Amino acid sequence: MKALVKTGPGEGLALQDRPMPQIGPSDVLIRVRKTGICGTDVHIWNWDEWAARTVPAPMIIGHEFAGEIVELGRDVTGLTLGQRCSGEGHLIGHTSRQSRSGQFHLDPETRGIGVNVPGAFAEYLALPAFNVVPLPDGVSDRIGAILDPLGNAVHTALSFPLIGEDVLVTGAGPIGIMAAAVARHVGARHVVITDVNQTRLDLAARVADVVPVNVASEDLPSVCARLGMRQGFDVGLEMSGNAAAFDQMVGAMVMGGRIAMLGIPAAPTLVDWNRIVFKSLVIKGIYGREIFETWYKMLAMLENGLDVSAVITHDLPMAEFEQGFRTMKAGQSGKIVLDWDQ
Ligand code: NAD
Ligand code: ZN
Repeated sequence: MKALVKTGPGEGLALQDRPMPQIGPSDVLIRVRKTGICGTDVHIWNWDEWAARTVPAPMIIGHEFAGEIVELGRDVTGLTLGQRCSGEGHLIGHTSRQSRSGQFHLDPETRGIGVNVPGAFAEYLALPAFNVVPLPDGVSDRIGAILDPLGNAVHTALSFPLIGEDVLVTGAGPIGIMAAAVARHVGARHVVITDVNQTRLDLAARVADVVPVNVASEDLPSVCARLGMRQGFDVGLEMSGNAAAFDQMVGAMVMGGRIAMLGIPAAPTLVDWNRIVFKSLVIKGIYGREIFETWYKMLAMLENGLDVSAVITHDLPMAEFEQGFRTMKAGQSGKIVLDWDQ
C-alpha cells in the first residue's frame, strides 16, 4: 500500500510502498479515504527537537482520518464491513487507575497513531475496534477527516458552561476557529477571537459569527468597551501556545473567570501569577479529546447545525502532499485535507 513515511532524521516525508498492516483479534482494518494535515505532522516533517525525541523513524505518520472498515478482527462485535468511520487516535492502556475508572483520556500509557505507532497517512490503517467512531450519514468523509482537531476544539470549549457568557479565544488557527464556532453554536454572548495573522482572522469571520481582533493593531480593553462589556471575558480558550496571547487573556478576564488551555508553548514561558491569584482565575489544561464523550457531543452538534466546513481551505489529492505541507507552513491556510482515492 502507499503511505507517507518519515524515513529518518531530516526534513520531509517520503511516499513509499509499505506492507499492508496486520490486524489483531480486537482490531479493524480501515481503508483510508481522507486525512487532515495537523500541526503535529508539520513538526514531524520539520524534524524539530520534539519530533526527534518522540517519533521512532521509520514511521507512517498522520492521525486525522476518515475511511471505511474493510476487515474485522475475529473478536470484534458491533461494527460492520463497509461501515464509514473516523476514530480516536490516542491508543490507551487498560490498567491505570484513570482508565479503570473510565477516564480514558487521562491514561498515562497513551500512545498516538502517526507518532508512536503507524498512522493514517496510508491507504490502510489498523486500529483497535475500541477506537473506531462510526460516522453518521450526515457527516461527510471530508468532515470525518478533521474530527480529531474539532474534538480538541469541542473538548476545550465545553470545559466550562458557555451559555450567555463572553468568550475570548486566543489564536485563530484551525482549532481556535472551530472552538469559536462551537462557543457560538452552544449559546455564548460575545465570542471574540484574536490573532496577529489577518488571513486567519478573516477565515474565522467566514466560519462563524465571531468578532475577529488583530491584536497587532487593537487591544482587548478597547474591544471590550466597543462591545459594551463591563469587566472582561468570563471564559478564555487559549489556542495559540503564545505567551503574549496568554498574558493578554489573563489581563482581559473577569474576576473569577475560567480559562481552558489547549495551546502548547514551544518552550517554558514566564507567567505573571499575581494577576491569576488576585483575579481568582481557574485554569484547566486540555489534552486530546474526552474518550468518548467529546466524540458523542461533537457528532451530535454536527448533526444539529454546527457547520465548520469552511475551515477546510484546501482539498488536495494525496500525491500532492508536498504542496499541502508547504501551504501549511506558510500559515495562510485553514485545514488541509488529502484525498487517498485520487
Ligand atoms: P496554529 O499554530 O495553526 O494556530 C495558532 C495561531 O495562534 C496562529 O494562527 C498564530 O498566528 C496565532 N498567534 C500567534 N501569536 C498570537 C498572539 N500573540 N495572539 C493571538 N494569536 C496568536 O495551531 P492549531 O493547529 O490551531 O492548534 C492550536 C494550538 O493547540 C497549538 O498550540 C497546538 O500545538 C495546540 N494543540 C494542542 C493539543 C492538545 O491536546 N493540547 C492538540 C492539538 C493542538
Ligand atoms: Zn491533529
